Amino acid sequence: MSTETAISPTAFELVSGLEIHVQLNTKSKIFSSDSAAFGAKPNAHISPVSLALPGALPKMNKEVVGKAIRMGLALHCTINQTNYFDRKSYFYADLPKGYQITQDNKPICQNGYIDLVLSDGTEKRIGINRIHMEEDAGKSLHDQDDRYSFVDLNRAGVPLIEIVTEPDIRSAEEASVLLTEMRKLVRHLDVGDGNMEEGSFRCDANISIRENGTTEFGTRCEVKNLNSIRNVRRAMEFEFNRQQEIITRGGTIIQSTLTFDADQGTTAPMRTKEMANDYRYFPDPDLPPIYISDEWLAALKAEMPALPHEITAKLMTDFGINNSEASIFTEDKELLNYLNAALALVKNSKNLINWLTGPIRALLNEKHLTITTFKVNPAQLAAVVNLVEEKKITQQIALQQLLPAIQLSPDTDVVELAGRLNLLIIENDDELSAFADQVLEKFKPQVAAYKTGKKGVLGLFVGEVMKLARGKADPGKINEVLLEKLK
Ligand code: ADP
Ligand code: MG
Repeated sequence: MSTETAISPTAFELVSGLEIHVQLNTKSKIFSSDSAAFGAKPNAHISPVSLALPGALPKMNKEVVGKAIRMGLALHCTINQTNYFDRKSYFYADLPKGYQITQDNKPICQNGYIDLVLSDGTEKRIGINRIHMEEDAGKSLHDQDDRYSFVDLNRAGVPLIEIVTEPDIRSAEEASVLLTEMRKLVRHLDVGDGNMEEGSFRCDANISIRENGTTEFGTRCEVKNLNSIRNVRRAMEFEFNRQQEIITRGGTIIQSTLTFDADQGTTAPMRTKEMANDYRYFPDPDLPPIYISDEWLAALKAEMPALPHEITAKLMTDFGINNSEASIFTEDKELLNYLNAALALVKNSKNLINWLTGPIRALLNEKHLTITTFKVNPAQLAAVVNLVEEKKITQQIALQQLLPAIQLSPDTDVVELAGRLNLLIIENDDELSAFADQVLEKFKPQVAAYKTGKKGVLGLFVGEVMKLARGKADPGKINEVLLEKLK
């Protein structure tokens, strides 16, 4: 909390609604066959449609409609089976048509909600006002040349959905839980990659305050283009304090559009309501209305997977883990697939969950890997977990020696490898017995002390035998052997 001021208990309450822009992960753009991929050289993905050459006509990408509907179904929205596109007119260098194609009066989805679980365990429902489809604009580059600005139109026409919430958010925490859940959903439904750094998941935050106990909304300010959940929180905290100060001084809030300065943690005005754009929305005559048939809608509904919160609840009851442990799997679809593949092969599923939420997670973080780039496949991890469960290898040796060895020779047979590398627990009692004799011989004074009642030295003997066994022994078994000899 260095540069950030936390919202302290005050006479005021925060009110916020978010407009979340999600870039869809389709191969091609929304109205043309240009690639929608991120990261190409400037202006590599442009055709007459993206360039807005005279006479070029948009053609709807059906996949965009399917993804918007999937998101709408997950958010309990009404799907408008007839909807259409509008033109939103404004002038900017990165918008060669002079208008953006979007949806105004008749968006594809309306009137939904999402249920959140806050950190203190309470539930909160946030209304979803609408989801509409639109195209992204290009990008102006002002830092490439001293005299000229450049325009990159790769992003022009990349498909977006905009999810608009009701002004139901009452704290920065609610906003960040909401965004985390939304991003999870976007990834889970394979609608987009939800990557905030690359700008494929960004949001505008509308923020107002009002006196506690009042029901009327205050005048809102809209903070544009927030590109991280942390910055959404910071912008809300800053705006809350700024607006509170103005009102406490007897001033009034002017409805305005703001930018957020991430270095300073402050907001600054872009334009006020008086300077607001007049977009002259009207239905786009180049695109026919979209009709979604009953059959298609039914098919999309039938294909909907179980949702993250449902999976979380099931993991919690099935394996007795808490919400945050379960969320590890619902935040990462690949990890969930990995878990399901390994679950079918392990003897003790709770152990597998413990491995994945504990040591494996730590290992991936440390080595900057994901479960997809991790070179131990689900069947191999299941074999490792089973070996530990059967007390054929110690957890420590499994982690420190067997897993690294598997990573070096992927697709290898785990049990065979563990045997070949001599990592399995010594089951030969004679060998353990010989180690125990050596230790008792070496620590004669301690043995004498043990016999006079200093039972604490047993731990020393166990440790020494373990050393001789190079960690490949079951401590319980060593105990047994030693106690027998010390009788
Ligand atoms: P506009 O059409 O002017 O963009 P909307 O009614 O569509 O306005 O609202 C845009 C966003 O602002 C929505 O997310 C909504 O929840 C939020 N919002 C509306 N009124 C307020 C308010 N008084 N305080 C905070 N957020 C608000
Ligand atoms: Mg609006």
